[in-house]
Amino acid sequence: MNKYIKTIAILTGSLFLITACNSNTEKNQENMKTDKNKLDAIFPKGEKGSADLFTGNAYNIGLVAPDSTFTTAVGNVYFEPRARSNWHTHPAGQILIITDGVGYHQIEGQPIEVIKKGDVVKCPPNVRHWHGASPDVGLQQLYIVPNTEKGIVDWQEAVTNEQYKKE
Ligand code: MN
Repeated sequence: MNKYIKTIAILTGSLFLITACNSNTEKNQENMKTDKNKLDAIFPKGEKGSADLFTGNAYNIGLVAPDSTFTTAVGNVYFEPRARSNWHTHPAGQILIITDGVGYHQIEGQPIEVIKKGDVVKCPPNVRHWHGASPDVGLQQLYIVPNTEKGIVDWQEAVTNEQYKKE
């Protein structure tokens, strides 16, 4: 083998190794993502949500309690896979910031929207909607409810399995 061919062989070998390493890393990250216990939790898990308001296991922790200066409620909800809120409205709307996982958000009459880490979702005032995790991956979401003097949330009926499956 002359020097030139040898160099090409070494370079090709190195490229193959680099590619192989990258795809392993991607695979590992993928595996971590689909493990419900491996979602990144920025805030404490908080208290389990009532079965009257949520289907499945959802946990809520308040981070900012509304007061007369800020009139804003902020908190974090962790939904285990398949868990979701009941249908509800917010008198002054709501902003969701997804910090990990994959979930669903649906405004009544519209298709289910897939939401995932890095997404920001605005839900307008007094619009019926629900949000929660996807069937296989949980969801970590921050909520921001502005103008709480108008009210925070009006809870309604549960999202049926049939409604949940209609992706
Ligand atoms: Mn909401």
